[in-house]
Amino acid sequence: MAVCVAASAALAVWVASPSGRTLARIDAMNRQIAAQKAELQQVRDNAQRDISRMAIKLGELQADSARLDALGQRLVVAGKLDPAEFNFDQAPGLGGPEKAVAPVRSLPYDLSVSMEQLAQRFDNQQTQLGVLQSLLTDRQVTASLIPSGMPIKDGYITSPFGERIDPFTGRDSFHPGLDIGAYRGEPVHAVAAGVVTYAGVRDGYGEVVEIDHGDGYMTRYAHNSKLLVHVGEHVHSGEVISDAGSTGRSTGPHVHFEVWHDGKLVNPIAYVRR
Ligand SMILES: [Zn+2]
Repeated sequence: MAVCVAASAALAVWVASPSGRTLARIDAMNRQIAAQKAELQQVRDNAQRDISRMAIKLGELQADSARLDALGQRLVVAGKLDPAEFNFDQAPGLGGPEKAVAPVRSLPYDLSVSMEQLAQRFDNQQTQLGVLQSLLTDRQVTASLIPSGMPIKDGYITSPFGERIDPFTGRDSFHPGLDIGAYRGEPVHAVAAGVVTYAGVRDGYGEVVEIDHGDGYMTRYAHNSKLLVHVGEHVHSGEVISDAGSTGRSTGPHVHFEVWHDGKLVNPIAYVRR
Protein backbone atom coordinates (compact mmCIF):
# COMPACT_ATOMS: atom_id res chain seq x y z
CA MET A 1 0.00 0.00 0.00
CA ALA A 2 2.84 2.35 0.90
CA VAL A 3 4.29 1.72 -2.51
CA CYS A 4 1.00 2.55 -4.18
CA VAL A 5 0.81 5.86 -2.33
CA ALA A 6 4.45 6.59 -3.12
CA ALA A 7 3.84 5.76 -6.78
CA SER A 8 0.87 8.14 -7.01
CA ALA A 9 2.86 10.83 -5.24
CA ALA A 10 5.72 10.27 -7.65
CA LEU A 11 3.47 10.85 -10.61
CA ALA A 12 1.86 13.94 -9.10
CA VAL A 13 5.27 15.47 -8.42
CA TRP A 14 6.45 14.53 -11.87
CA VAL A 15 3.58 16.10 -13.69
CA ALA A 16 3.66 19.22 -11.55
CA SER A 17 7.35 20.02 -11.83
CA PRO A 18 10.24 20.19 -14.28
CA SER A 19 12.53 17.32 -15.07
CA GLY A 20 14.89 17.88 -12.10
CA ARG A 21 12.42 16.61 -9.55
CA THR A 22 11.25 13.89 -11.94
CA LEU A 23 14.75 12.54 -12.09
CA ALA A 24 14.91 12.58 -8.30
CA ARG A 25 11.70 10.52 -8.25
CA ILE A 26 13.14 8.04 -10.74
CA ASP A 27 16.21 7.75 -8.52
CA ALA A 28 13.91 6.98 -5.63
CA MET A 29 12.07 4.36 -7.69
CA ASN A 30 15.39 2.80 -8.64
CA ARG A 31 16.38 2.62 -4.98
CA GLN A 32 13.00 1.09 -4.22
CA ILE A 33 13.49 -1.63 -6.82
CA ALA A 34 17.00 -2.29 -5.48
CA ALA A 35 15.54 -2.66 -1.98
CA GLN A 36 12.87 -5.01 -3.28
CA LYS A 37 15.50 -7.11 -5.04
CA ALA A 38 17.46 -7.36 -1.79
CA GLU A 39 14.28 -8.36 -0.01
CA LEU A 40 13.59 -11.00 -2.62
CA GLN A 41 17.07 -12.41 -2.13
CA GLN A 42 16.44 -12.60 1.58
CA VAL A 43 13.15 -14.35 1.01
CA ARG A 44 14.98 -16.81 -1.19
CA ASP A 45 17.61 -17.44 1.50
CA ASN A 46 15.05 -18.03 4.20
CA ALA A 47 12.75 -19.95 1.95
CA GLN A 48 13.22 -23.38 3.34
CA ARG A 49 12.59 -22.18 6.87
CA ASP A 50 9.20 -20.74 6.30
CA ILE A 51 7.56 -21.48 3.02
CA SER A 52 4.11 -20.15 3.83
CA ARG A 53 5.44 -16.82 5.04
CA MET A 54 7.47 -16.61 1.87
CA ALA A 55 4.41 -17.15 -0.30
CA ILE A 56 2.68 -14.18 1.35
CA LYS A 57 5.79 -12.01 0.92
CA LEU A 58 6.10 -13.08 -2.68
CA GLY A 59 2.51 -12.01 -3.31
CA GLU A 60 3.24 -8.59 -1.83
CA LEU A 61 6.34 -8.16 -3.95
CA GLN A 62 4.37 -9.15 -7.06
CA ALA A 63 1.79 -6.50 -6.20
CA ASP A 64 4.56 -3.90 -5.72
CA SER A 65 5.98 -4.85 -9.07
CA ALA A 66 2.59 -4.46 -10.76
CA ARG A 67 2.23 -0.97 -9.27
CA LEU A 68 5.66 0.01 -10.54
CA ASP A 69 4.58 -1.20 -13.99
CA ALA A 70 1.48 0.98 -13.82
CA LEU A 71 3.49 4.00 -12.71
CA GLY A 72 6.07 3.42 -15.44
CA GLN A 73 3.33 3.27 -18.08
CA ARG A 74 1.82 6.52 -16.82
CA LEU A 75 5.22 8.21 -16.93
CA VAL A 76 5.55 7.08 -20.54
CA VAL A 77 2.15 8.62 -21.37
CA ALA A 78 2.83 11.84 -19.44
CA GLY A 79 6.25 12.17 -21.07
CA LYS A 80 4.75 11.60 -24.54
CA LEU A 81 7.15 8.73 -25.21
CA ASP A 82 6.39 5.81 -27.52
CA PRO A 83 4.53 3.23 -25.38
CA ALA A 84 5.60 0.48 -27.81
CA GLU A 85 9.18 1.01 -26.68
CA PHE A 86 8.31 0.82 -23.01
CA ASN A 87 6.56 -2.36 -22.17
CA PHE A 88 6.79 -2.62 -18.43
CA ASP A 89 4.81 -5.84 -18.49
CA GLN A 90 7.32 -7.91 -20.38
CA ALA A 91 11.02 -8.58 -20.36
CA PRO A 92 12.82 -6.55 -23.03
CA GLY A 93 13.15 -8.45 -26.29
CA LEU A 94 16.74 -7.41 -26.89
CA GLY A 95 19.96 -6.70 -25.04
CA GLY A 96 21.84 -8.33 -22.19
CA PRO A 97 22.64 -11.97 -21.68
CA GLU A 98 19.80 -14.13 -20.46
CA LYS A 99 20.22 -15.00 -16.83
CA ALA A 100 20.47 -18.66 -15.96
CA VAL A 101 17.64 -19.76 -13.71
CA ALA A 102 18.86 -21.58 -10.62
CA PRO A 103 15.85 -22.94 -8.73
CA VAL A 104 16.29 -23.28 -4.99
CA ARG A 105 16.37 -26.95 -4.10
CA SER A 106 13.47 -28.56 -2.32
CA LEU A 107 11.21 -25.55 -2.81
CA PRO A 108 7.77 -26.14 -4.29
CA TYR A 109 8.25 -25.78 -8.03
CA ASP A 110 5.84 -22.90 -8.75
CA LEU A 111 7.17 -20.79 -5.90
CA SER A 112 10.72 -21.00 -7.16
CA VAL A 113 9.61 -20.28 -10.72
CA SER A 114 7.56 -17.29 -9.49
CA MET A 115 10.58 -15.94 -7.66
CA GLU A 116 12.80 -16.24 -10.69
CA GLN A 117 10.19 -14.51 -12.85
CA LEU A 118 9.85 -11.74 -10.29
CA ALA A 119 13.63 -11.29 -10.08
CA GLN A 120 13.75 -10.93 -13.87
CA ARG A 121 10.86 -8.50 -13.74
CA PHE A 122 12.71 -6.26 -11.27
CA ASP A 123 15.76 -6.37 -13.55
CA ASN A 124 13.55 -5.38 -16.47
CA GLN A 125 11.97 -2.51 -14.55
CA GLN A 126 15.41 -1.18 -13.63
CA THR A 127 16.47 -1.28 -17.27
CA GLN A 128 13.30 0.46 -18.45
CA LEU A 129 13.56 3.15 -15.77
CA GLY A 130 17.15 3.77 -16.80
CA VAL A 131 16.10 4.41 -20.39
CA LEU A 132 13.15 6.52 -19.25
CA GLN A 133 15.51 8.56 -17.05
CA SER A 134 17.82 9.38 -19.93
CA LEU A 135 14.91 10.31 -22.20
CA LEU A 136 13.31 12.55 -19.59
CA THR A 137 16.44 14.69 -19.41
CA ASP A 138 15.44 15.82 -22.89
CA ARG A 139 14.25 19.44 -22.88
CA GLN A 140 11.21 18.47 -24.95
CA VAL A 141 9.54 16.81 -22.00
CA THR A 142 9.91 19.94 -19.86
CA ALA A 143 8.75 22.03 -22.79
CA SER A 144 5.52 20.02 -23.00
CA LEU A 145 4.57 21.40 -19.56
CA ILE A 146 4.62 25.05 -20.70
CA PRO A 147 1.43 26.24 -22.43
CA SER A 148 1.93 26.51 -26.16
CA GLY A 149 -0.37 26.68 -29.16
CA MET A 150 -4.13 26.93 -29.57
CA PRO A 151 -6.76 24.85 -27.83
CA ILE A 152 -8.58 24.80 -31.19
CA LYS A 153 -6.63 23.48 -34.17
CA ASP A 154 -6.21 26.22 -36.77
CA GLY A 155 -8.30 28.42 -34.49
CA TYR A 156 -8.64 32.17 -34.98
CA ILE A 157 -8.96 34.80 -32.27
CA THR A 158 -12.35 36.48 -32.16
CA SER A 159 -11.71 38.65 -29.10
CA PRO A 160 -8.34 39.59 -27.56
CA PHE A 161 -7.20 39.74 -23.93
CA GLY A 162 -7.61 43.04 -22.08
CA GLU A 163 -9.91 46.05 -22.28
CA ARG A 164 -12.89 45.69 -24.59
CA ILE A 165 -16.57 46.51 -24.93
CA ASP A 166 -18.55 43.85 -23.09
CA PRO A 167 -20.76 42.05 -25.67
CA PHE A 168 -23.64 41.83 -23.15
CA THR A 169 -23.62 45.29 -21.52
CA GLY A 170 -21.98 47.41 -24.25
CA ARG A 171 -19.75 48.96 -21.56
CA ASP A 172 -15.97 48.98 -21.19
CA SER A 173 -14.78 45.86 -19.43
CA PHE A 174 -11.74 43.74 -18.91
CA HIS A 175 -11.63 40.49 -20.90
CA PRO A 176 -9.50 38.02 -18.90
CA GLY A 177 -8.72 35.64 -21.78
CA LEU A 178 -8.71 35.05 -25.50
CA ASP A 179 -11.83 34.02 -27.37
CA ILE A 180 -11.16 31.50 -30.10
CA GLY A 181 -13.73 30.72 -32.76
CA ALA A 182 -15.00 27.14 -32.81
CA TYR A 183 -18.01 25.22 -34.02
CA ARG A 184 -20.22 23.42 -31.51
CA GLY A 185 -18.65 20.05 -30.66
CA GLU A 186 -15.22 20.95 -32.05
CA PRO A 187 -12.45 19.17 -30.07
CA VAL A 188 -10.72 21.37 -27.48
CA HIS A 189 -7.08 20.44 -26.82
CA ALA A 190 -4.93 20.85 -23.70
CA VAL A 191 -2.10 23.23 -24.63
CA ALA A 192 0.36 21.46 -22.31
CA ALA A 193 0.65 18.34 -20.17
CA GLY A 194 -0.78 18.59 -16.68
CA VAL A 195 -3.35 17.52 -14.12
CA VAL A 196 -7.04 18.46 -14.36
CA THR A 197 -7.84 20.53 -11.25
CA TYR A 198 -11.42 21.52 -12.15
CA ALA A 199 -14.01 20.12 -14.53
CA GLY A 200 -17.56 21.38 -14.13
CA VAL A 201 -19.73 24.47 -14.16
CA ARG A 202 -18.42 27.87 -13.05
CA ASP A 203 -20.49 31.03 -12.95
CA GLY A 204 -20.16 32.82 -16.31
CA TYR A 205 -17.73 30.26 -17.68
CA GLY A 206 -20.31 27.50 -18.15
CA GLU A 207 -18.79 24.03 -18.49
CA VAL A 208 -15.11 24.67 -17.82
CA VAL A 209 -11.87 22.70 -17.56
CA GLU A 210 -8.85 23.89 -15.58
CA ILE A 211 -5.44 22.25 -15.89
CA ASP A 212 -2.44 22.73 -13.60
CA HIS A 213 0.80 22.36 -15.55
CA GLY A 214 3.21 22.84 -12.67
CA ASP A 215 5.79 25.63 -12.42
CA GLY A 216 2.94 28.01 -11.56
CA TYR A 217 1.08 27.58 -14.87
CA MET A 218 -2.67 26.98 -15.07
CA THR A 219 -4.91 27.08 -18.15
CA ARG A 220 -8.71 27.41 -18.33
CA TYR A 221 -11.03 26.41 -21.18
CA ALA A 222 -14.59 27.74 -20.94
CA HIS A 223 -18.07 27.55 -22.56
CA ASN A 224 -17.74 23.85 -23.51
CA SER A 225 -20.75 21.78 -24.56
CA LYS A 226 -19.28 18.59 -23.08
CA LEU A 227 -16.38 17.80 -20.73
CA LEU A 228 -14.28 14.72 -21.49
CA VAL A 229 -11.90 14.74 -18.51
CA HIS A 230 -12.34 14.59 -14.74
CA VAL A 231 -10.54 16.13 -11.77
CA GLY A 232 -7.26 14.37 -11.04
CA GLU A 233 -6.86 13.08 -14.57
CA HIS A 234 -3.44 13.47 -16.15
CA VAL A 235 -3.54 14.87 -19.65
CA HIS A 236 -0.79 15.15 -22.20
CA SER A 237 -0.11 18.08 -24.46
CA GLY A 238 -2.66 18.17 -27.29
CA GLU A 239 -5.08 15.76 -25.64
CA VAL A 240 -8.77 16.43 -26.33
CA ILE A 241 -10.34 17.57 -23.04
CA SER A 242 -13.81 18.76 -24.11
CA ASP A 243 -16.17 19.65 -26.96
CA ALA A 244 -16.51 23.35 -27.67
CA GLY A 245 -19.88 25.02 -27.08
CA SER A 246 -21.63 28.09 -25.78
CA THR A 247 -22.47 27.34 -22.13
CA GLY A 248 -22.27 30.13 -19.56
CA ARG A 249 -22.04 33.81 -20.51
CA SER A 250 -21.49 33.35 -24.22
CA THR A 251 -23.03 34.71 -27.41
CA GLY A 252 -22.14 31.69 -29.59
CA PRO A 253 -19.85 28.65 -29.77
CA HIS A 254 -16.23 29.53 -28.95
CA VAL A 255 -13.48 28.71 -26.46
CA HIS A 256 -12.66 31.31 -23.84
CA PHE A 257 -9.04 30.52 -23.02
CA GLU A 258 -7.15 31.85 -19.99
CA VAL A 259 -3.54 31.41 -18.90
CA TRP A 260 -2.57 31.96 -15.28
CA HIS A 261 1.00 32.16 -14.00
CA ASP A 262 1.86 32.26 -10.30
CA GLY A 263 -1.75 33.07 -9.46
CA LYS A 264 -2.01 35.99 -11.88
CA LEU A 265 -3.84 36.28 -15.17
CA VAL A 266 -1.49 36.73 -18.12
CA ASN A 267 -2.13 37.53 -21.77
CA PRO A 268 -2.36 34.11 -23.47
CA ILE A 269 -1.20 35.46 -26.83
CA ALA A 270 2.51 34.87 -26.12
CA TYR A 271 1.79 31.21 -25.31
CA VAL A 272 -0.55 30.71 -28.27
CA ARG A 273 2.28 31.89 -30.54
CA ARG A 274 4.90 29.65 -28.95
ZN1 LIG B 1 -13.95 35.27 -23.48
